[in-house]
Amino acid sequence: MAEVLANSVYAVALTGAGVSTESGIPDFRGPSGIWTRDPEAERRAYEVYDKFLRNPVEYWMESVKSPIRDAIERAEPNPSHYALAELEKMGILKCIITQNVDNLHQKSGSQNVIDFHGNVSKLRCLKCGRRYPRDMFDIPKILEEGKIPLCECKYPLKSDVVYFNEPIPQDVYTRSVEEVVKCDVMIVAGTSAVVYPAAQLPRIAKNKPLPASVVEINAEPTPLTVEGISDYFIQGKTGEVLPRIVEEVKKFLAKYK
Ligand code: NAD
Repeated sequence: MAEVLANSVYAVALTGAGVSTESGIPDFRGPSGIWTRDPEAERRAYEVYDKFLRNPVEYWMESVKSPIRDAIERAEPNPSHYALAELEKMGILKCIITQNVDNLHQKSGSQNVIDFHGNVSKLRCLKCGRRYPRDMFDIPKILEEGKIPLCECKYPLKSDVVYFNEPIPQDVYTRSVEEVVKCDVMIVAGTSAVVYPAAQLPRIAKNKPLPASVVEINAEPTPLTVEGISDYFIQGKTGEVLPRIVEEVKKFLAKYK
């Protein structure tokens, strides 16, 4: 399978929560996922976007403290992230589209990363689309003054993270589809591939006039495996499989190129 990547012209990766579990950030639907253990948390997650739209002050009061965000901010990249960053440096991987909001691909050195579901380190305006680094705002102090973070256009800011029922920002969606249309190989790593429209991206890659080869790496089979969207399925931990793939690609390149 390494030769598929080594011979690729434009490889992209789609990653999910599974690539970050080895950094200590739990996924949602894996065997020890947040929602597998606490289904009520899934129900609450579906209410956040609506809360922001109805009452941004209440949204900010409830979200200013978040143990999950604290854990994400403390987390460090693991071998999965570093392997993908290395594939980019080697000129093979052209883009990572990640469903993760944890900023770990960027922390590991990857340059061309699309945060499909946003990024915890940013705030975003739903009206004009501007994004701001979260640390530009002293949010606890702003709330103490009875205010909330506002955009330059005066609209209330929310976290850049895309919540359930919230549309994917148009700029992000367009860029992602452009990358998928260009790719000849797609690595799909650590995602249950059930969250749409992200789960549509491998299907677009597979069903376009010049289909891409889809290389899936996951702890367990997914709908992509079952439906035959994946040309290769490597079962295992991404933190072990991805570095092995990088080594194999290097060996192949040293021998044949
Ligand atoms: P998911 O929880 O639905 O699925 C994760 C998949 O990865 C599961 O199939 C699981 O078995 C597998 N997995 C877990 N650890 C693995 C490992 N070490 N190696 C290989 N596979 C492993 O995650 P999803 O598909 O990304 O969808 C959940 C949504 O939740 C995403 O859209 C994302 O925005 C959000 N989320 C993000 C984070 C994060 O930023 N790190 C964490 C949890 C959830």
